[in-house]
Amino acid sequence: MSDALRVVTIDGPSGGGKSTVSRGVAAKLGFTYLDTGAMYRAVGYACKQNNTHLDHPAALSDLLRDLRIELRPAVNAESDVQVFLNGVDISATIRTTEMGMQASRVSALPEVRRYLTRLQQQIGAVGEVVAEGRDTGTVVFPDALWKFYLDASPEIRAGRRAAQLRDRGEQVDEQELLKQIIQRDQDDSQRAIAPLKKADDAIFIDSSSLSAQEVINTMVKIIAEKAM
Ligand code: C5P
Repeated sequence: MSDALRVVTIDGPSGGGKSTVSRGVAAKLGFTYLDTGAMYRAVGYACKQNNTHLDHPAALSDLLRDLRIELRPAVNAESDVQVFLNGVDISATIRTTEMGMQASRVSALPEVRRYLTRLQQQIGAVGEVVAEGRDTGTVVFPDALWKFYLDASPEIRAGRRAAQLRDRGEQVDEQELLKQIIQRDQDDSQRAIAPLKKADDAIFIDSSSLSAQEVINTMVKIIAEKAM
């Protein structure tokens, strides 16, 4: 086995509580939080802005070549990481449901995955990173020392997502949200490359009846027990 990397991976479908938990675990350990979904959202946003034809490899290559995605720490413990695209702050713009679907679309493209996987591996190479996403334990950091897969029932996840959007002042149709969540899960887990799936050596946690704090405490305990 190659050397294990001092990286924590937290994968799972949307709405399972990954972001809050990943941020909390990173804060407790003093690790860097790597939000890989934000990177897919940034690429999705760039494609939309530039009207890039997703089935046109040359156009996509051109776009990716000129892209500069930068993640900066969140301004406070409750907010998401700040995302800059070629120097412009797109943090708020990319957090909509529509941008989630757009991210899912571009995330099925091999070229985009290759590009972002490499970027994520560069960030993780120094260690002390908590990476959150869909394939961080399977593809990006297969040698991570600590791996988790966080899930909850679709209804619970839709409810949490609805609360999040309402907090941001958005109008929410919860039934529609549930449909979108189920659709995105299906797209993410059925795509040909790097599908959403639990790594064989990841610990499965169902957060349906747990608070974020309980999940964080469980993870930190497991991490402390295994070769800190
Ligand atoms: O986690 P978040 O909802 O921000 O991710 C948006 C979309 O980006 C996901 O639905 C998924 O399609 C894609 N994604 C991915 N691989 C990752 C992270 C996100 O394919 N590691």
